[in-house]
Amino acid sequence: MEKSLSTSDASLTILQPEANDSPCTGCHSGCCRAFIVPLTGYDMIRIMTNLELPFWEFVCRYADESGEIAKGIAPHFHFDDDPETPFTIGLLQDASTHFPETQKCQFLKEHEKNDEHPLGVANCSIYEDRPMACRLFPARLDEQNEIGIVNIPKFGRAGSNPAYQLCPRDWTTEDIDAEVARRDIGNTATEMQQMHLLAERWNASPRSWLLFPDVIQMVFGNAAQN
Ligand code: SF4
Ligand code: SF4
Repeated sequence: MEKSLSTSDASLTILQPEANDSPCTGCHSGCCRAFIVPLTGYDMIRIMTNLELPFWEFVCRYADESGEIAKGIAPHFHFDDDPETPFTIGLLQDASTHFPETQKCQFLKEHEKNDEHPLGVANCSIYEDRPMACRLFPARLDEQNEIGIVNIPKFGRAGSNPAYQLCPRDWTTEDIDAEVARRDIGNTATEMQQMHLLAERWNASPRSWLLFPDVIQMVFGNAAQN
């Protein structure tokens, strides 16, 4: 599966309600629609193993010439059928039922709109096994190594489609569990670094996209079991 999609220059990705007063509570999850979620090797192994989902049912390679999807964080991969094009490996998206002609993460479950929630409410159907990028957003480490909040625009993609509208209120550091965020940021950095190492080796001699799942299994599968 491959796609080309343009996103805004916003931050990485996603999340879900952790607490009743979280900005995510009652949100239609614009972040899970606007952003393509870049995956680490361990993200893929976790989802394949814990959800017993085959690679091809949730992973996609996205042409990413502008780097808008990788955002300088995820690595680019090249493949032998189109060696000039840089691809970012991410979660597969599908069509939204509630917002015609828009896309969303295929794991986002949409619930009916009502007077209280005119954009509807949506939740992650793989919350416990969601990728690292989803766990982080919108936390970041600031220059003082303190937990901060990324800059969140009003819309996560160009235009003003309500599907891609982001957080209904501003986040504060009070909304974030600093200990969990610090752990997740560290784990993500480690996992992404390993993806960069794999990309370096892979891109030295690009091969078929069809071989990619076997390589992910070989590189990250055994390590995940140890
Ligand atoms: S758009 Fe913001 S408030 Fe809504 S689910 Fe995503 S992170 Fe939470
Ligand atoms: S995996 Fe879950 S949290 Fe991440 S984008 Fe998809 S629905 Fe949102």
